[in-house]
Amino acid sequence: MTGASVQQEQPSAQKWAIVLHGGAGIINRSTMDRKTDAEYRASLGEAIHAGAAVLDCGGSSLDAVETSIRILEDNPLFNAGRGAVFAANGRNELDAAIMDGATLHAGAVAEVTRTRNPIGLARAVMEKSPHVLLSGSGAEEFSIYAGLEQVAPSFFFTERRWQSLLKQLQEEGMPIPSRPAGAPPPPAMPIAEIEPPDAHKFGTVGAVALDRRGNIAAGTSTGGTQAKRWGRVGDSPLIGAGTYASNQSCAVSATGTGEYFIRLTVARAICALVQYKGLKLQAAVDEVIHKELAALHGDGGVIAIAPDGQMAWSFNTSGMYRAKLAEDGKREVAIYSDEP
Ligand code: ASP
Repeated sequence: MTGASVQQEQPSAQKWAIVLHGGAGIINRSTMDRKTDAEYRASLGEAIHAGAAVLDCGGSSLDAVETSIRILEDNPLFNAGRGAVFAANGRNELDAAIMDGATLHAGAVAEVTRTRNPIGLARAVMEKSPHVLLSGSGAEEFSIYAGLEQVAPSFFFTERRWQSLLKQLQEEGMPIPSRPAGAPPPPAMPIAEIEPPDAHKFGTVGAVALDRRGNIAAGTSTGGTQAKRWGRVGDSPLIGAGTYASNQSCAVSATGTGEYFIRLTVARAICALVQYKGLKLQAAVDEVIHKELAALHGDGGVIAIAPDGQMAWSFNTSGMYRAKLAEDGKREVAIYSDEP
């Protein structure tokens, strides 16, 4: 019998906890209107309470992570699922990963276009396939085989992300793809009058949770970076880069320019600092984000949780959509860097 299974079979008196992010980036009070600010906070609150409800009923950290992320994927405010950014070819190409800290089992998908909730597909890869990471058409095929809800690619379309793509492609002198089949007709009035301007390139979502059994889990879901090309895959679905969980150390979900997070294997590096150097969780996340990531001029942030209930977040951008809640604790929802 392994240490991990002993831990699973002997529930501890551990109190549950959960932390979420909804992306990091240039998110300033000056460019955010009150209504949008309130919508983000309400959305984060809804997602964290849904995950917390799972944990409060004795559910697993994996279920809590998946529950919260599904809600954020379905919310067009975030760059995951519906509301994802567009690749340069005019498609929403979605990435997601999930990891179970008790067993080190993990599942991930890259470049999927038809599964309504990519986090559910990542979990199916973990539980119903012998593999860890599936991509593109093979992942779509597996999604159908696993019986997951399929949608037309236009399900993920949002006007503001489309306009944001067109703006970037025009600025960069790149070819403009045709409007996706099935997308609603273009609006008559300029997009700025329909929706307030915002740092809409951001909004990757992630969750880390600790359940009453003392098990932790992590998950991340994203549309990646806007105008990405050539089948680009970021850090989010790469185990150890954007997502990692081990009961021996901590669970981490990242957001930011994925190329830097891949080079630094950010999530695993944080876990290694906790496991091998004995760092406190906050010290470990700060070390990697404010020293290692900053040294490479990378931008972004992470959320993390440890089996003893420590919760942490760290980011080097002007904002990160984020929330945390622990059993018997007060809910915290924040956006800007000047908030606690
Ligand atoms: N990390 C994501 C990626 O590079 C994007 C983000 O978090 O904003 O795909």
